[in-house]
Amino acid sequence: MKIATVLRNDDYSREVNEALRQKLAASEAGTYQLVEHGDEQPDLVLSIGGDGTLLEAVHQYGFQPTYVGIHTGHLGFYADWRPDELDEFVRALGSVEPLIAEYPTVQCRIQTKDGQIHHKWALNELVIRNATLSTLVVCVFINGDEFETFRGDGLIVSSPSGSTAYNKAVNGAIVHPSLEAIQLSEIASINNQTYRTLNSSLVLPKHHEIELIVMNPEIMIGLDREQGVWRDVRAIVCRVGTDKVRFARYKRLPFWGRVRNAFIKD
Ligand code: NAP
Repeated sequence: MKIATVLRNDDYSREVNEALRQKLAASEAGTYQLVEHGDEQPDLVLSIGGDGTLLEAVHQYGFQPTYVGIHTGHLGFYADWRPDELDEFVRALGSVEPLIAEYPTVQCRIQTKDGQIHHKWALNELVIRNATLSTLVVCVFINGDEFETFRGDGLIVSSPSGSTAYNKAVNGAIVHPSLEAIQLSEIASINNQTYRTLNSSLVLPKHHEIELIVMNPEIMIGLDREQGVWRDVRAIVCRVGTDKVRFARYKRLPFWGRVRNAFIKD
């Protein structure tokens, strides 16, 4: 099995990576070849750090390999293992047939006014905000029909697994990752006698499409960890991605348990 690792840039994650490499090399249950980015395509990518590190890993290696997260902080939404469980993890790797959990993504088409089209995707979310502190103005179309004109700080289009991240901070719903859907959530919309938005999050199924017609000359676009200022964007079209990110589950860790651990349990 060809394995690549992606690390958070801190001493503890580097230490855990070193310990893991030694355990993989010493393992009698399986033969592992550690590959570097740019060499051969790995079968499995191990992310050592936080959920943010996992986001970095999936953008580095894409949809072909499977992923396992080892969290060097608390247990994450994308990470199953803690550093004190490395022996158990290496044993499971050599002896357990993993369950493959496939997480939907958000697929986006960003169209600029000069006619260029940029294809992008996110595992957590697409975020748009005005590039300055003034109001973002966006006409929202759903499946080609005008829905509303949004005025406010920004809009988030999240995947189910991204629903526990930025989307949750703006009171979006938490969506189980087995549901193929995208969620549109508002960031600080203006709602008064003059301007009106739905002011609730919307969850759309796989075959639906959101088109955001941008009125501002310059906006910020965030896609997971990547962010940048874009000029002259005409429209952004989002739908459930055709590709999914595949997680190899070597032990059972139900999604709702992760939600409870992260947000409810002390
Ligand atoms: P960061 O600002 O360093 O960390 C953001 C936090 O979000 C971290 O605690 C991270 O967990 C957590 N996180 C990432 N994906 C998550 C998920 N699917 N469910 C629950 N929590 C999640 O940024 P980052 O590490 O580069 O992560 C990028 C993400 O930050 C974006 O995709 C966005 O969702 C999120 N974000 C949230 C807000 C907000 O809540 N107001 C604002 C901006 C961005 P770890 O500590 O395990 O890495």
